[in-house]
Order: sequence, then structure tokens, then C-alpha cells
Amino acid sequence: MDKLELYKKVLLTEGEDHQINMCIEECSELIQALCKYKRGKPDNVCEEIADCEILFEQMKLLFNQDERVEGWKAFKLDRLAELVGYEEEE
Ligand SMILES: [Mg+2]
Repeated sequence: MDKLELYKKVLLTEGEDHQINMCIEECSELIQALCKYKRGKPDNVCEEIADCEILFEQMKLLFNQDERVEGWKAFKLDRLAELVGYEEEE
């Protein structure tokens, strides 16, 4: 399956505003699933992570800022590694 083409069709068919609302909704479902997990209740964390990842990929396409997102990720991963004293093995 060509995910990029699928996401383009979804954005065209459902509309950008609708998919932004879906992303908001899925993020809140993940928050709720994590809260349930923390309280030791049955949760659907994995399903909600999958939903969020699918919507995040659509948001990157919608905002056409993949390079900026990747730049931020690299910066934040470096900062995280520094915070925990992680060093890559050579
Ligand atoms: Mg969901």
C-alpha cells in the first residue's frame, strides 16, 4: 500500500479541517488510554498509538513541513540523549 497516496486521498475526500479534528480526537484518545494504563485498567494504548501515528503522518503531509519536523526531531533527540547521558557505541 502506498501510504502517501492514501493520505492524499483521505485529505482530499474528508477535508483538511476534518483530519485536523481527527488528529485532536486521536491524541485525546491516547491520553485517555495512558490514564487507564496508569490506573491498572484494561487499556488500548497500542491501538491509540497506531491511530496517532497515522494522523501524524497526515499532518506532516497537510502542513508540508516534513523537513522541519525531522529537524525538530533530530534536535530533540540530541537533547534527550544529553539529558540521560546516552552515548552511541562505536
Ligand atoms: Mg483511536
